[in-house]
Amino acid sequence: GRMPRLSVEQYVQGVRENNRTILAQAITLVESNSTAHMEMAQEVIKRLLPHTGQSIRIGITGVPGAGKSTFIEAFGTMLCEKGHRVAVLAVDPSSTVTRGSILGDKTRMELLSRNPNAFIRPSATGGTLGGVNRKTRETMLLCEAAGYDVILIETVGVGQSETTVRSMVDFFLLLMLTGAGDELQGIKKGVIEIADALLINKADGENKQRALVARGEYNRVLHYLQPATAGWQTKAYMCSALTGEGIEDIWDVVGQFREQTTRTGGFEARRKAQALDWMHSMTHDYLRSTFYSNPNVASLLPQIEQAVASGEMSATSAVQQLVAIYEKTRQ
Ligand code: GDP
Repeated sequence: GRMPRLSVEQYVQGVRENNRTILAQAITLVESNSTAHMEMAQEVIKRLLPHTGQSIRIGITGVPGAGKSTFIEAFGTMLCEKGHRVAVLAVDPSSTVTRGSILGDKTRMELLSRNPNAFIRPSATGGTLGGVNRKTRETMLLCEAAGYDVILIETVGVGQSETTVRSMVDFFLLLMLTGAGDELQGIKKGVIEIADALLINKADGENKQRALVARGEYNRVLHYLQPATAGWQTKAYMCSALTGEGIEDIWDVVGQFREQTTRTGGFEARRKAQALDWMHSMTHDYLRSTFYSNPNVASLLPQIEQAVASGEMSATSAVQQLVAIYEKTRQ
């Protein structure tokens, strides 16, 4: 393929020096599904791990059209002006089907993409959401080792991708729109419950008044919900990604969140829990795929399924038989 022939040492050094070409190549290595590349990627990650973890990891979601890319452009540019270094990544489950990407469109975030303190990486394509999940997490580690201190992970508000992003970030931001009429209509309650802030975008012009009303209504709803992060009250805010109003305020909110949860220990506790959950989830995936791809299991499975479906065999004894034949071939 197009994989450059760099040594582990060259990847490690290049990333540490924030050589953008090598950083991009290291990400390509992490995204590769080839066994040799995966082994090399793990060696690179292992060497870089001591230099990771110092960033604030922010997830951003919202329905298409909510203004995610406009917001990230404004927010990221503001952060770069403050002296931060910003990496923008994406989790895009649809890209595995369409081979497109929510960040693939060159016209998006044009200003930010030209900023020397920003690094924008289109989402990993190919494979399952689990694969995209691993690639995004490891890309985040590479960006941290390269010195990016703010990581923004964007995802479209569909399917399971919000939970996936929630499981890898410190702060989760839900971008919202004010609907005409019933503000509470169309709320994905499950997503509101995992958000650390609701941000009503497009609070400009004629829409500003409606945004104010919506903010009040969301705050009333949030009051009754269990907060996504212990010790932090999720609230609704307003901004205009177009005019820039409210963009700095949301960075202040992130700062308060970090300060408050660091003080209570919640910040570190979540990171530790995330690392352990991730390890267990990868272990489950590994075991599941090893089990079902075992030739003896695969050939016996249709019969056993039929027997269970027709009521001839109990599920428990089916499992016992499958596991027995699996373990026999492992010896
Ligand atoms: P995404 O699909 O969530 O990434 O949304 P986009 O960032 O592509 O924005 C969708 C449309 O909304 C674009 O036409 C933007 O120009 C517009 N838009 C985004 N933010 C604002 C805003 O704060 N105010 C107004 N009036 N329009 C906005």
